[in-house]
Amino acid sequence: MEFAPLVEPGPPLSEAERRRYARHTRLAEIGDLGQRRLAAARVLVVGAGGLGSPALTYLAAAGVGTIGVIDDDVVETSNLHRQPLHSDADVGRPKVDSAADRLREVNPHVVVRTHPRRFSAEGAEELLTAYDLVVDGADNFAARYLVTDACALAGVPHVWASINAFAGQLSVWWAGRGPCYRCVFPEAPPPGSVASCAETGVIGALPGVMGALQAAEAVKLITGAGRPAVGRIILHDALEGTWGEVPVRSRADCPLCGVSPTITEVRSGEEPPPVPLVSVTELRTRLGHEAADREVVLDVREAEELAEGRIEPSVHVPLGALVAGDAADLVDRWRAEGASVVAYCRSGVRSAHAAAYLLSVGVGRVASLGGGILAWDDEVDRHEPVVPAGRTAVGQE
Ligand SMILES: [Zn+2]
Repeated sequence: MEFAPLVEPGPPLSEAERRRYARHTRLAEIGDLGQRRLAAARVLVVGAGGLGSPALTYLAAAGVGTIGVIDDDVVETSNLHRQPLHSDADVGRPKVDSAADRLREVNPHVVVRTHPRRFSAEGAEELLTAYDLVVDGADNFAARYLVTDACALAGVPHVWASINAFAGQLSVWWAGRGPCYRCVFPEAPPPGSVASCAETGVIGALPGVMGALQAAEAVKLITGAGRPAVGRIILHDALEGTWGEVPVRSRADCPLCGVSPTITEVRSGEEPPPVPLVSVTELRTRLGHEAADREVVLDVREAEELAEGRIEPSVHVPLGALVAGDAADLVDRWRAEGASVVAYCRSGVRSAHAAAYLLSVGVGRVASLGGGILAWDDEVDRHEPVVPAGRTAVGQE
């Protein structure tokens, strides 16, 4: 699909700019007007690392008038094989400073704004009001989901890429115009479940390829040229030397851009909120105890996940429905009866949110099952089935 140019053109180009951008303006898809749009554009690049190095360099060279760079890291020697924005002499310097110096050398016509900090929930919305689009070079899931939420809520296109070992992926997420990142990847994987580049390694030229492609997508969006990668993920296998793409669609039940979103503000990442935890062993003991009928086990997973196994007996209310107030009668009863509620999900992230919600609405005794059904399956299914005292399992007696 094609889109109208994202940015209105700035004033006519100077003679110096005309000479500098001659190979751009010669392209019918960009032209003089497109170059003026680039000059008026404000692009925020999250991360001045592997993807940020080429993305920032080509955006500056292309004449994007205002470039923001946000990063809280310092340059390390092990960065240099894939981050040629920084040089050996920059080791130990903040990456935003090293990047700004280099970009001003590349193109003195552009303004570089530095944000020497991590992209965080605090101030994310104000920050995005100063930019037309975001190029996401984040190297961790917490930042990626924050960027995703902030972009979708601000209606700003989000040029994303991801790299690992020899594989690269890229898409333009744009809530309202196409899918957002959460339409395809609704929640972050549990911390530690996906290896980072630091653990698996990455071929140095791969972020160069994918980051340059991000800059090209940004130029296309700003000028309205061609068909941006909205609604598809472009896949690159550097080891095989192949390219492919998969179509992706918006989801009506997306927690961020769907018809009844559960995410309506930028919140601090996917870290579970601090709530009381119970271990699987403790829950098993409690359920086997005489007072077990006062224990409520609350399953907050989506309906399609129930086939993966359940803790019995349990009550099923998906997290989205719970926080939307769909189970208000049940919650009222728990509050009135002083029930002890243990929430669980797959791994413990959603259940922590559910527990935090129940505490916030006055249910007094609430906990989240640490490690979720995964831990339950690991630990408890090795033992005999749970049969609360005073109850009779079917088939016994
Ligand atoms: Zn979405």
